[in-house]
Amino acid sequence: MVSVAKNGATPPVRHICVVGGGSAGWMTALMLSATAYGEGIRVTVLESPQVGIIGVGEGTTHTFRQFFDLLGIEESEWMPACNATYKSGISFEGWSTRPGCERYFHPFASILDNMTMQPFLDNVHARLSGADVHAHPDRFFVTATLAREGQAPRAQANFPFDVWYGYHFDATLLGQYLGRVAVQRGIRHLQRHVQEVLLDERGAIGGLRLDDGGTLEADLYVDCTGFASLLIGQALKTPFVPFGENLFNDAAIALPTPLEGKIESQTTSTALKYGWAWKIPLRQRYGNGYVYSSAHCSADQAETELRRHLGLLDADVPARHLKMRVGRVAKVWNRNCVAVGLSQSFIEPLEATALMYVQRTASMVTEVLEGGDLGDAAISLFNDAMRTRIEDTRDYIVAHYKTNSRTDTDYWIANAENMKLSPSLQGVLMTWMSRQPLAPALRAGRFGQGWPIMSWYALLAGMGVVPGTEESPLAGAATARHRMAAVDAFVSRSAMNFPEHRTLLADIPPRLGDKSLQTYLW
Ligand SMILES: Cc1cc2nc3c(=O)[nH]c(=O)nc-3n(C[C@H](O)[C@H](O)[C@H](O)COP(=O)(O)OP(=O)(O)OC[C@H]3O[C@@H](n4cnc5c(N)ncnc54)[C@H](O)[C@@H]3O)c2cc1C
Repeated sequence: MVSVAKNGATPPVRHICVVGGGSAGWMTALMLSATAYGEGIRVTVLESPQVGIIGVGEGTTHTFRQFFDLLGIEESEWMPACNATYKSGISFEGWSTRPGCERYFHPFASILDNMTMQPFLDNVHARLSGADVHAHPDRFFVTATLAREGQAPRAQANFPFDVWYGYHFDATLLGQYLGRVAVQRGIRHLQRHVQEVLLDERGAIGGLRLDDGGTLEADLYVDCTGFASLLIGQALKTPFVPFGENLFNDAAIALPTPLEGKIESQTTSTALKYGWAWKIPLRQRYGNGYVYSSAHCSADQAETELRRHLGLLDADVPARHLKMRVGRVAKVWNRNCVAVGLSQSFIEPLEATALMYVQRTASMVTEVLEGGDLGDAAISLFNDAMRTRIEDTRDYIVAHYKTNSRTDTDYWIANAENMKLSPSLQGVLMTWMSRQPLAPALRAGRFGQGWPIMSWYALLAGMGVVPGTEESPLAGAATARHRMAAVDAFVSRSAMNFPEHRTLLADIPPRLGDKSLQTYLW
C-alpha cells in the first residue's frame, strides 16, 4: 500500500534511519518525524550500547527555543528534567588587553534592543571617527545587566517585550529526555551497534549490519555518529575539510564544580594561555572546561592550568580529556546519507553553535523532503547552503581570535598574526579598520549571512578594536547623538521587569501560546 502524507503528497522516502542517539540523533529524529508527511515517513534511531555520547555541549544559541516550540513542549516540562537554566548571552573575559575592553558581553538581539541598538551603532561609528564617546557594548543591552545580576531573560507577564535567550543544560540528561519524548511519539529506538555499513552497487548505503546479526535497511540514512563519522566519512569516504589553519584549538578538558550563590544567566568564556575556559551554570553545578591547542601545550599543562583557574589544584575531581575534529565534511548530503551533528561539522564551542547547526540541518532536510525533489540539483543546492552557513560561522569565530591583543603566549600572538582569513572576513575587518560603517554591508549580505549586525559590533567594539588615532577619513562626519544617561536609564528601568533567575527556575510559567510577545532579530 502506498502511504500518503497529511498534505496528500507521497513522501520521497518512507523509512529514515538515524544512526546515533546523542543530542544530534534525537533532535534530528524528532524534527524529521514532524514533517508534513506525518506517519508517511517512519523514523528509526539506532544507538550503540558500546559507544557513549560525547556528553558535553551544554550551551545553546537563541534558536534552541524554536526547537521546543516546534515540538510543542513547555519549558516547565523539559527544563527541570535537564537541569536547565536560561542564557542571556556570553561574557568574554580577558580576550582583549585594551583598556576598558578586558571584558564584554555578547547578547542575543531582540526587540527590546531596538531602543538602544541605534545609539550603540551611532556611538561606535563616532568612536571609529575619532570622537571620544562611549562605544563599549555592555551598557547598551538589557541582557548584559540581567546576566550579570543573576536575573532571568524572561520578562514578567505584564511586560510586553520578549527578549531572545538560549539555555544551558546537562547534555546527558537532554539526550535521555529527548529519547523518551521520541519513543512516546512513535519513533523506533533500537539499541544496536552498527558493525558494518553495506554499500550497494552504485556506491550508496544499502544497509547496516548490526551486532545481533540482522541487517537494517532504509531509504535515507542520517549519520549522527559523532566524530566517528561512521557513515558519511568512513563508509562513503566523503572528504573532510579541516579548519585547522583558521582555528587552532583541537582538544578540550571538561570538569564540573558545585554551584554556589546566584545563578548567572550567562556563559563565561575566559581566555587562558592556550585557549579559553568555559563556565556554564546549571541548576546544581557548573560545567567547566578548557578548549586549547595541543600544538601549543600538552594535555597535562592544560589540565593544570584549568585546575588553577578553577581553584581546584589540590581537589580530587576527575577531568575528562577530549579531542576535537574541527572542520566540515565536503558534502553534508552525500548519496543517500545526510550528516548531522559532530559527524558533519564542528567549529569549536566558542559561541555554542553546534546544536544550532543540528537544528538548521534537520530543518533544511525537512524542507528538501517536503519539496519532494531529491535530485542532484536539489541536493547540490542544499550542500552549497550548508557550506556557506558553516563557513560564515567559522569566520565569526575566527574574528574573536584574530582581534585578540594578548601577548603572553605564542598561541595568542600566532592567532592575532594569522592571515588565513576568508575573503568575507577580510572584508569585514578592512571595512572596520578603514572606519567605514559596517552595518550597511552586513545588511546587504556582502560579508555572508552568518551573524547579525549586533553580534559583529559587539565583538569588534567589545574587544576595543579601534584603528589608530591618526586623522580619520570620516573625521567630523559622525557625532555622538546619544547621551549615555538616557541609555542607562532605559536599560535599568527595563531590567526591573525581569525576575531573579533562581526564583523563576523554581516555578517556570507557561510560554507557548503567549501571543502578546513581540520578537525581532537584528
Ligand atoms: C568540548 C566541547 C564543548 C561543546 N560545547 C557545546 C556547546 O556549548 N553548545 C553546543 O551546541 N555544542 C557544543 N558541543 C558540541 C556538542 O557536544 C555536540 O554537537 C552534540 O553533543 C551532538 O553530538 P552528536 O550527537 O553529534 O555526537 P555524540 O554525542 O558523540 O553521539 C554519537 C552517537 O553515535 C552512536 N554511535 C557511534 N558509533 C556507533 C555505531 N557503530 N553503531 C551505532 N551507534 C553508534 C553513539 O552510541 C552515540 O549515541 C561541544 C563539543 C565539545 C567537544
